[in-house]
Amino acid sequence: MNASVEDRRQEWEGPIPVPTGATEPFWAATLEGALCYQECDCGNRQLYPRAVCTACGAEDPPFEESEGVGTIYTYTRCHVPGEPGFGDRTPYVVGAIELTDGPRLLALIDAKPSEFAVGSSVAVTFWRVSDDAAIPVFVPE
Ligand SMILES: [Zn+2]
Repeated sequence: MNASVEDRRQEWEGPIPVPTGATEPFWAATLEGALCYQECDCGNRQLYPRAVCTACGAEDPPFEESEGVGTIYTYTRCHVPGEPGFGDRTPYVVGAIELTDGPRLLALIDAKPSEFAVGSSVAVTFWRVSDDAAIPVFVPE
């Protein structure tokens, strides 16, 4: 799976992810349009990336590439920006996306609430916001 990566470095005013430690492989993959999660030898799958498995404590669980599709578990429409850089984006939608691969992640949903519902199918796309990171954003399929 390689989703599109839209270059938004010029206009993005939101927070910029800073790849460090366990998150470096995750952010490097986003630049290529790939969404990765960690799958430990014990079978646990997790996202966001962490230095240890949340189920068994093993260090540096390996990364696997997600299919980049899932469903909307829940969402909220934000009228008050959570960050100053989101001020001119309100209202915007943040959702908990349940990937078909298993892990769940919070991400922007690039659509109006009238265009989807809880349970709707979504696919990942990426907005490149720095030289080092592209944030995953989901759109209804
Ligand atoms: Zn584990």
